[in-house]
Amino acid sequence: MRDAEAVTFARGALDRAAHLRADASLATDPRALCLALWQGKPLIEPGPPPHLAWLPMAADVFAGARTAPVFLGVAGGAPRFAREIPDWEGAATGPRPFFDDSRDHHPGLPQGLDFGDLRAVMAELSVSDAGTAAAAKGILGWHATHRFCARCGAASAVADQGWKRTCPACGAEHFPRTDPVVIMLILHGNSVLLGRSAAWPPGMYSLLAGFMEPGESIEAAVRREVWEEAGVPVGEVDYLSSQPWPFPSSLMLGCRGEALAREIHRDPAELEDARWVTREAVLAALAGQDPDLKPARRGSIARFLLERWLADTLD
Ligand SMILES: [Zn+2]
Repeated sequence: MRDAEAVTFARGALDRAAHLRADASLATDPRALCLALWQGKPLIEPGPPPHLAWLPMAADVFAGARTAPVFLGVAGGAPRFAREIPDWEGAATGPRPFFDDSRDHHPGLPQGLDFGDLRAVMAELSVSDAGTAAAAKGILGWHATHRFCARCGAASAVADQGWKRTCPACGAEHFPRTDPVVIMLILHGNSVLLGRSAAWPPGMYSLLAGFMEPGESIEAAVRREVWEEAGVPVGEVDYLSSQPWPFPSSLMLGCRGEALAREIHRDPAELEDARWVTREAVLAALAGQDPDLKPARRGSIARFLLERWLADTLD
């Protein structure tokens, strides 16, 4: 697919400089800067356009952080890090909606700098900032959920400035995980197969998707998922584009598949609804003309693939 990397999160411009990961002195380099995240939400300057806010390594807001900063790479001649900050007094730590466009302000930070959910700001950030934010959220999320050795259960330690965890008890080394997910534009004639999960906001429909299983090819996973969720047999499958999706650690593998039949046998445990939607109906929905059909949001690979299907630019 031409221009496949135009999808949000796919074009991080940061030089990851992996050869410098063993150099612990970078964190004390006076030029070093750090992106603060709170509960996985990056610190944003409002702009316009909104962009990531970089702080000095020793900013007060990092006091009491549970983990060391993770080295993201080098940009503008400066080492760049990311670090999760602890809750502050008065922080709103309660549950949030699926789509959370609220902003959270830390009292120790200048006015205007706020933490924002990446899902809500992803389409407004520059391609470079979106890629950096995805990497930061992904790696910090991995540390937050992999504090213990998967082999023996002992507490593991951060190594290589965040790109490895080692186990002092059994010697195992653990590396950041990425979980492949297939997401597919299933076509039949002039229609695309869309489905919705019961947990989604009312009216939201998207492409079917699912985690790949061990021992499976991308193509086989596409066919299995569509068959399991919608009971639709799929023939030819081809890969189109991929998107890092740090919610929390997925890599979306965007594919196109040709449905061999139109009849849907939905699994109600997986999908609340599934339906064939014509090009014209998707166009109308994207234009906001259908209150009962809200296609995936801007910034998602589902939206990216739908728009390219409508524009006939999938190849
Ligand atoms: Zn171990």
